[in-house]
Amino acid sequence: MSQLVKTEGFVLRVIPFQDEDLILTVLTGDLGKVSVFAKGARRLRSRFGPEIDLLSLSEFVLVDAKNIKPLREVTLKQYFPRLKADYDHLSSALYGARLLSHLVREGQRDLKNLGLFAALLHTLDREDAPVALYELAYKLRLLDNFGVAPHLESCVRCRKPAPTPWFSLERGGVVCQACRLESDGRMKAGLAQGLSALRTMEWAKLERLRLGAQDIVLGSALLDRFMAYHVQDAPLKQRATKGTSLNKRLLQE
Ligand SMILES: [Zn+2]
Repeated sequence: MSQLVKTEGFVLRVIPFQDEDLILTVLTGDLGKVSVFAKGARRLRSRFGPEIDLLSLSEFVLVDAKNIKPLREVTLKQYFPRLKADYDHLSSALYGARLLSHLVREGQRDLKNLGLFAALLHTLDREDAPVALYELAYKLRLLDNFGVAPHLESCVRCRKPAPTPWFSLERGGVVCQACRLESDGRMKAGLAQGLSALRTMEWAKLERLRLGAQDIVLGSALLDRFMAYHVQDAPLKQRATKGTSLNKRLLQE
């Protein structure tokens, strides 16, 4: 008889397989990212329901196969109904799932990022959640956890403390006047400090941060460009220009 494993996790991706089946990507605390084979899940009278929906948190009983683990039983733990009923909230959560699924490796235990994703979903499940602010904080913290976030606190080259008004994609963060190259873009005053606070402040207190709507848009665009440059095939929410030169106007406006 095959060995079974029980684990709890979020459904990050759902891919149709053949006529009646689904392959799920599930992020768990103890097994990391696992691929799950849900046989017959697309049948009209499937025994699986909302517990295998995208973004659901469920407890899975799986056959402990080496690659794709067949699903035996599943129990819904959390469904996040308010999040799933609002387009902006849902779109933000799906983007968060896609980014996480892209960055985390198969089978790698990862409690830190699981916790971060759970915090994002709990926040987005509130009707009054400031979606753009939390999406930006999540993106920055996730990149930070994977070691691919920009350096913001001092000049990335000479370590002279902030404020450093220029940003270098190539060198991975803010640069001072003396260290800047022709290709570096100018940053809006206060943007680096705002992003830095988004990264370090307690999650629940982030909405007290006075980061304007424009700063959030600029910060998000900056991170998208940073990802396009440093992360292979990075999934971007907005279509960002790939390449080495920053859109200088966008950073300044
Ligand atoms: Zn410098």
